[in-house]
Amino acid sequence: MSTIVAVDTFDLRFPTSRLLDGSDAMNPDPDYSTAYVVVRTDDDGPDGHGFVFTIGRGNDVQVAAIDTLRSFLLGHEVEPLLADMGGTWRRLVHDSQLRWLGPEKGAMHMAVGAVVNALWDMRAKRAGLPLWRVLADLTPDEIVDLVDFRYLTDVLDRSEALQLLESARDGRQDRAQRLVAQGYPAYTTTPGWLGYDDAKLARLSGEAVAAGFGQIKLKVGADLDDDRRRLAIARETCGPDVRIAVDANQRWDVDEAVRWIKELAAYDLAWVEEPTSPDDVLGHASIAERIAPIPVATGEHTANRVMFKQLLQARGAQVVQIDACRLAGVNENVAVLLLAAKFGVPVCPHAGGVGLCEIVQHLAMFDYVAVSGTADGRMIEYVDHLHEHFSDPVRIDRGRYVAPTKPGSGAQMLQTSMREHAYPGGAAWAAG
Ligand SMILES: [Mg+2]
Repeated sequence: MSTIVAVDTFDLRFPTSRLLDGSDAMNPDPDYSTAYVVVRTDDDGPDGHGFVFTIGRGNDVQVAAIDTLRSFLLGHEVEPLLADMGGTWRRLVHDSQLRWLGPEKGAMHMAVGAVVNALWDMRAKRAGLPLWRVLADLTPDEIVDLVDFRYLTDVLDRSEALQLLESARDGRQDRAQRLVAQGYPAYTTTPGWLGYDDAKLARLSGEAVAAGFGQIKLKVGADLDDDRRRLAIARETCGPDVRIAVDANQRWDVDEAVRWIKELAAYDLAWVEEPTSPDDVLGHASIAERIAPIPVATGEHTANRVMFKQLLQARGAQVVQIDACRLAGVNENVAVLLLAAKFGVPVCPHAGGVGLCEIVQHLAMFDYVAVSGTADGRMIEYVDHLHEHFSDPVRIDRGRYVAPTKPGSGAQMLQTSMREHAYPGGAAWAAG
């Protein structure tokens, strides 16, 4: 048995606002950041790495939230924690005092996600396998053991989830082989940041098509005339066969969203993302009904599995966008994958930021192999920033994610990058 001897946290920030990378209608100047955690043991085994993604100010609050979880791990034997990740998740999420800060939403819930993901990273490294493969090798029983069905059973209970997983069991091996051979579909948001001028939008849109992406995404919602002009540029550059999605990042009220989207419908929109408040389930449903057949996509700010349940029940989301670091880690994302499979709604994960692509690809690949059993209509967001800071950066080949082969979850950042981007003392900040 080995014991957890350290839970180290780091405030790491990247000065992305200097180039307006990541700029959108609600977040004009993000500094992509991570509240980062490393779990260490007293043996020669691998460390577990995890993090919460934030966009700058408040990253210190997120680090402090992770710090409050230290006592759940420090001094504990690690093998029982890793062997029962469902139980570990419940202990962290349902702590009788900490849950007051949510429940199951916000900084505390995301802190649990960072710790849970760090433990999954450690478990995958100990198994010598990439995380997607660790998850895809679990039996249906082991997979449902990861999920807390509390608050879900009116829609999905353990036995129905088991049936879903059993029905996807045939063909797992074929799909895993196909995944390794062909990768998983991606789309790119690289051209579409709101702070980029028209020439940069046109150049990056052209490059995306040439690189083999079948879909790009543009940020919208600040100014209608700008949106029309930018969509015209993108549509002309990409041609009629490349899908173009738009993302309003929660900018509109419900009626305003419907009016605005109708003005843009002529550009043949693949989906409209985050049209309004992420908490407005009925608002999403109303928008979806009134802009049909244009799909509504949401999820990167959806706080927990209960909100996803309601979005699906109300038909407020035709595309589910899980985020590796918004929910409480791998376990809760497995719950959402099961919910989406039950409703037959495609999951197209949110990524970008810093390190989100690296982690969330494992969840989409697990979904393909063991849950939904299909990649039809599914793709993972890709943004071409900050991958060089990770020890196992994502690889894109002809518009598809290449299945990772290295052990772990993809979360591990390079030591040099961690040193340089420590906030506020690191070299990246001293230079600014
Ligand atoms: Mg988005």
